[in-house]
Parts: sequence; C-alpha cells; structure tokens
Amino acid sequence: MNSRADTLAPVTLITGAAQVVTCAGRHGVGLIENGVIAIEDETILAVGSRDDVMSALGDRGIQPLDANGGAVIPGYVDCHTHLIFAGDRRHEYFARMRGLDDAGLRAAGIPFDVPVSIAANRELSVDELVNASLPRLRRMLESGTTTLETKSGYGLTPDSDIRSLRAARRLAELLPVEIVSSYLGAHVLPPGATKERFLDEILNEGLPQVSSQGLAEFCDVYCDPHVFDLKETERVLRRASDLGLRLKLHVDAKNNIGGTRLAAEMGAVSCDHVNHTTTADFRALADAGTVAVTFPGFDFIVNHSSPTSIQAVRDSGVTLALGTDQCPVCWLESMQLAVALGCRINRMTPEESLRGATIHAAAALGLAHRIGSLEPGKQADIVILDVPSFEQAAFRFATNSVAKVIKKGRVVVDRGAAAPPG
Ligand SMILES: [Zn+2]
Repeated sequence: MNSRADTLAPVTLITGAAQVVTCAGRHGVGLIENGVIAIEDETILAVGSRDDVMSALGDRGIQPLDANGGAVIPGYVDCHTHLIFAGDRRHEYFARMRGLDDAGLRAAGIPFDVPVSIAANRELSVDELVNASLPRLRRMLESGTTTLETKSGYGLTPDSDIRSLRAARRLAELLPVEIVSSYLGAHVLPPGATKERFLDEILNEGLPQVSSQGLAEFCDVYCDPHVFDLKETERVLRRASDLGLRLKLHVDAKNNIGGTRLAAEMGAVSCDHVNHTTTADFRALADAGTVAVTFPGFDFIVNHSSPTSIQAVRDSGVTLALGTDQCPVCWLESMQLAVALGCRINRMTPEESLRGATIHAAAALGLAHRIGSLEPGKQADIVILDVPSFEQAAFRFATNSVAKVIKKGRVVVDRGAAAPPG
C-alpha cells in the first residue's frame, strides 16, 4: 500500500539561495542565510534552514529549484500606479528642465498637465488602452512585480474611467500579475468643467457604475487645494464607502490641508504621497491603521522639495510603503529602483525600503494576510535575484537584478541563471 507521501505531488524546494529574505515579523527583514523554501501548488509550505524544512517535509518528494547563489525575496508589490494610459509628458518635462514654468509652456505652445492626458486617453477603447499598457506591465513583471494596483483617471469622464478599469481587468488575464483596481474619478478637474457638475457625475454616474459592475476594489481621490478640497474629498469618499469600496487618498503632495486626518477618520487603507505630512499626522494614520505610501521615484523625477520625512515616519510608528507611481509624468517600472531611490532620496535603510516594497505595500492594498512576505501559508509570490544579497539589489539602481519570478508557485519569468556571487 502506498504511503500518503507517495500519492502527493512533489514539493518545489528553492535551494542554493545565499539568503532568504522573508520580510516576516514586525521589524527587520527576517533574513535566513542559506535558507530554503518549500512550495506546494500556489502556497508556501515551509521556510527556514535546510535541515528544519527537510525534517518538516518528512518523506515528501522534492522538485528542486536552484537559486544559484542569489538572494530570494518576496515578489514586489507596487501599491500605487497609474498603469493604464497612452502617451507621456516628456515634451513638458524637457521644457521644464530648460527652465520653462506654466506661463512659459503656454507661451511656447507646449501642452502640459491634464490636457495632455485627456487628449491621449479620453477616446481610447479598452483594446487600445490594453495595447498601450501591456508592454509596460510585462516589463514590470520582468522587474519582479507580482502584484500591483492601478487607477482610472486620465479620460476624466465616467465612460473613460470605466474603459480604463475594464482594461485593467483584461491585463490581469493576459499576464501573471495580480492587479488591484481603484476608481480615481476625482483625479483632477478637466479644463472647462465646473466642480459641482464634475463631482455630480462622479457621485451619481461613475461611482454607482463602477460599484455595480465590480470594476474596482478601491476609490481614490486627489486631495489638495488645487484639485479637491477636504469637503469635496469627503463627499466622494462617503459615497464610495456606502457603495462598498475601500478608500485610498492622494494627500499632502503639494499642500497639507489635513487630508491625512480625513483619511484616518474615514478608515482609509492607505494615504499616498505624504510629502508635507507631519509626525502628528503620521501618528494619526498609525492610530487608525492606515498605511502611508511614498514615491521616491516620483519625488526624484519632479525634484520634489519635500520628500517624505523618514524621521517623522520613524517617530510616529506609522507603516510606510513605497510604490512607483508609474504614470505619464513618472515613467518608473522597476520596484528595485524605487527601493534604491527610497534609500537615496528618503534615506531609508535597505531593510525599511524592501519592507516598504513588499509586506508594507501589501498592507497598503489590504492584502498583507496573503502576500508580501515569505511565510508558511502565504501565496508563493517570490523573486530570485541574481545577486547574493538584497542590499546589492537596493544599491544597483540601473540594473534589473531579477533572475526568476515565481507567481503562485509557478516560474513565470526566467532571465537565466543567477550570476555567481560578486
Ligand atoms: Zn498617483
């Protein structure tokens, strides 16, 4: 008679890792030198030293997967992108680098800001949006991102938002990346629109349709005086909450008008940008269990005068995640570079930055129970690096250090063997 072990499928065992960086626990990165990981189907079965894991497996059959001397980390979670768009704002960017401000751009006849995005996106079909975004998503996956969030918000009409959210659902079927969607109807006010009329469309057309069609998990609002003030933001969030959507906010990017306090009061899952956020604001977020999210890549490309203060974050005890904020202004696809810039721009430690890109980013999506760390019972979303330490990946800012990407227990990207340590 067969034993139970004979009838079970073999367990995949990641071996040969210089280090397994679990990102489990409340502090540090849970580093296990020469650790191994056992995977059964889509799930992590065991993580630890080879001896401990082998004895836990008993006589189960093993299918080895060689990390070839690389470090092994959780799949990156990019918790804030605007993935779905066509076009970019490079002409505006280079003109600003030449010293032109808004008035100068206008005088030079260079379109900038919202009109650029509307012109490129408002009339696009779902297929066109998918075609424009798919190559970007593929490169993000190849850079180790296994889950990402994306938003609507470039067409600035309910119909174009819905097409954008449909494109996100379609993209998730085309590549092995999980996509969490947010409805960002209240992104900016389109030129010529009145605030009241625009909000009315969001409250009475956009939100109900998005909710009834199950097109988004979150509702997001850009809360800043030049876009939507506290009162307007609260109206949108309340309606979204009533319709069963969870909440996110763009806050304190240019001005602090109390958006973090509103986010805390409303039980938002995350509060993003947080450039002008004080220690007391961060503490309010921490008390509410709201995750703060920073974008070192965005702050780099716009040369932000006030990157998120890591000292205020540390003093407050808030959970800090980081994302790429991939968008027509910030063409950053690599979470590895976001991590490196977190260390450079925000002076985070490599441990803080990697946690921000994995377990804390998962928390910013309300998914930390399932992804973001390498622990028994969690989904097997794993990156094998071609360098022997996670710190090398956080230092090599212009190199893709990914050797293999594993999504739900399956190797979905294989860029070749890991390089020998060095
Ligand atoms: Zn954004």
